[in-house]
Amino acid sequence: MLSSEKSTLRKEIRQRKFAFSADELHRKSSAILQKLEQHPLFIQAKTVLLYWSLPDEVYTHDFVERWSMQKTILLPIIIDDDIAPYLFDGKENMQSGCFSISEPATAVCEDEINLAIVPGIAFSPQGQRLGRGKGYYDRFLADFHGKKIGICFDFQLLPEIPVEQFDVKMDEVISN
Ligand code: ADP
Ligand code: MG
Repeated sequence: MLSSEKSTLRKEIRQRKFAFSADELHRKSSAILQKLEQHPLFIQAKTVLLYWSLPDEVYTHDFVERWSMQKTILLPIIIDDDIAPYLFDGKENMQSGCFSISEPATAVCEDEINLAIVPGIAFSPQGQRLGRGKGYYDRFLADFHGKKIGICFDFQLLPEIPVEQFDVKMDEVISN
């Protein structure tokens, strides 16, 4: 069964993180986001869907705050089984949402999203993605027409990931 293969992999990859200190993960996050901000897809994008990181993800909080001065930065909020992109309009306007993920409190943004920055438990260099197992990004990205960049730590890279027909592939993966 593909779904049990996926859950075994999720557990394995989650374990790898414990070999790194919070400081190391912070430094790695900075290196990843430095590569991202030099990427032509990011430079060209006017409206970017980012995410507000949880403790086990590439740390994005400072990056979101800094770039929100220059680009339209949207963050996902969870409504029922779906992601809706909301405008980031300052850390002070965030509230705790589903799974205790901080999310913007204000309004949905109808701007066309040029680029989505997608977190994941694991990625392959070809852009295959393993998420947390609820399929939020697969559903959201199924009818998304912008570019998709996955970001992760290099210990989250796998040569190959078991994928199903609904798994959405990234255009690129940036890691460090
Ligand atoms: P994740 O991508 O978070 O690792 P999975 O790929 O295992 O999770 O997907 C979790 C569930 O989400 C799947 O069992 C599937 O039923 C559902 N799902 C994914 N994409 C879609 C879609 N486009 N439409 C409806 N359901 C979907
Ligand atoms: Mg998936």
